Amino acid sequence: MTTTDISTLATALRPVLGDAQVISDRQELRTYECDGLAQYRVVPALVALPRTAAECAATVRACVDAGVPFVARGSGTGLSGGALPHAEGVLIVTSQMRAIRAVRAEDERAVVEPGVINLHVSRAAAPFGYYYAPDPSSQQVCSIGGNVAENSGGAHCLKYGFTTNHVTGLEVVTPDGDLVRLGGPAPDAPGYDLLGAFVGSEGTLGITTEVTVRLTRSPESVRTLLAGFAGTDQAGAATSAIIAAGVLPAAIEMMDALAIEAAEAAVRCGYPAGAGAVLIVELDGPAAEVDAHFTDVERLCREHGAGEIRVAADDAERALIWKGRKSAFAAVGRISPDYIVQDGVIPRTALPEVLRRIAEISAQRGVRVANVFHAGDGNLHPLVLFDDAVPGQAEQAEEVSGAILDICIAHGGSITGEHGVGMDKVGHMPRMYSADDLDTMQLLRCAFDPRGLANPGKVFPTPRLCGEVPGRRRGAHPLQEAGLAEVF
Ligand SMILES: Cc1cc2nc3c(=O)[nH]c(=O)nc-3n(C[C@H](O)[C@H](O)[C@H](O)COP(=O)(O)OP(=O)(O)OC[C@H]3O[C@@H](n4cnc5c(N)ncnc54)[C@H](O)[C@@H]3O)c2cc1C
Repeated sequence: MTTTDISTLATALRPVLGDAQVISDRQELRTYECDGLAQYRVVPALVALPRTAAECAATVRACVDAGVPFVARGSGTGLSGGALPHAEGVLIVTSQMRAIRAVRAEDERAVVEPGVINLHVSRAAAPFGYYYAPDPSSQQVCSIGGNVAENSGGAHCLKYGFTTNHVTGLEVVTPDGDLVRLGGPAPDAPGYDLLGAFVGSEGTLGITTEVTVRLTRSPESVRTLLAGFAGTDQAGAATSAIIAAGVLPAAIEMMDALAIEAAEAAVRCGYPAGAGAVLIVELDGPAAEVDAHFTDVERLCREHGAGEIRVAADDAERALIWKGRKSAFAAVGRISPDYIVQDGVIPRTALPEVLRRIAEISAQRGVRVANVFHAGDGNLHPLVLFDDAVPGQAEQAEEVSGAILDICIAHGGSITGEHGVGMDKVGHMPRMYSADDLDTMQLLRCAFDPRGLANPGKVFPTPRLCGEVPGRRRGAHPLQEAGLAEVF
């Protein structure tokens, strides 16, 4: 793509979108050079800011006509480089498509544009006694379109499921530039589950321009406890026992000793002194059911070696319990100048064994790893600590981070629980899938996008990227520092 071609494309788009909606100035383009994974940076050739589905479709059609790749972007908080621009392509940013078109409590549905912020859906539904359940910790800033593309999760997805369980319909601009609908307000459309294929497709199957989401009734009662254990083995066993007893908490979160140390240093959350691990268990639902199950949870925690158990008496105490957990990632900055946020998932019952393996590798390589994670659904977020100022430490940390993903795969898990593959983990895809598996997935991609223009280079490996290890985060994410998001 030459500079002349891009300027021709810009000239074609300006009358359709408006001058201010097409950015070609090099300095302004830099604003969009990365997402939440800031070590990958690419300045896009052009940025388009459509305000309607028709404008978005027209932008994609212009790209197709010019043979130019395009990348969708919502709020740019993704942690795997999914919205990393293409140097010769157009970044199509949906952040100005922010209308909440309908909240229909009687149908338990809301219809929103893709740039709508996750938390704003719950705010709009609250007066009707409803909320939108998937709650990524970036929910104050991330967009519903990005959530759909990443199939995002959050602390309360244990009980309520991930984004895919809360989207019933989409309007999509296909990579040909056509506007189509997948699913609708009713569940379970007949035929192939193209809606299911689109959710989690990371911008490779088209751009969503409208999302119909399922709303969830706000619970009558919420109760939270904090339990201290000698170590992660006991806390992991308690987690499995709670689920095996038929109790489904809204959230079960675990922190190990190093993560507790960091949280204490940062926010003085007063977690049980000397604990090798803590569990936060939150139950919600009808008051009578929550009370009955809460008694079971307390008993099971004690039976699995919990020492101190603290029950939140009110919202303030509940917030204090969560404060340590929510601050944990940023807090790691208190005990290490740099760290990698890893995201893998394993069957819940493999937690004790996998945590032991991580501890072994950490000890063997002399690299500290703090564990803070969604224990209930086996979604690990190991934080691999290092000091970039010390030669060789960053590389060692990257090796440990990659080895942790290998352990997840070996235990029947996956290289990503909720942050996606994006650019960051394309090199790990062949470790998880055979060449035939990957080719089969490519058939689906090609059926949507035969020209390969939608977010090329993401999700699927090319030989250049095979064997690459994930990149590293230096210190807290700027959104965390600004108090706008927490890493869960
Ligand atoms: C501090 C912090 C905490 C986080 N916590 C969590 C968490 O708890 N759980 C979790 O799951 N994630 C978490 N994330 C990751 C991130 O917030 C989510 O992946 C989120 O869904 C990304 O939304 P976004 O609008 O920022 O998307 P972007 O980063 O802009 O894009 C993400 C992907 O979606 C695609 N995309 C964006 N919009 C569209 C569209 N309209 N149509 C098609 N494709 C599109 C992009 O091409 C890209 O591949 C966190 C991130 C940060 C920085």
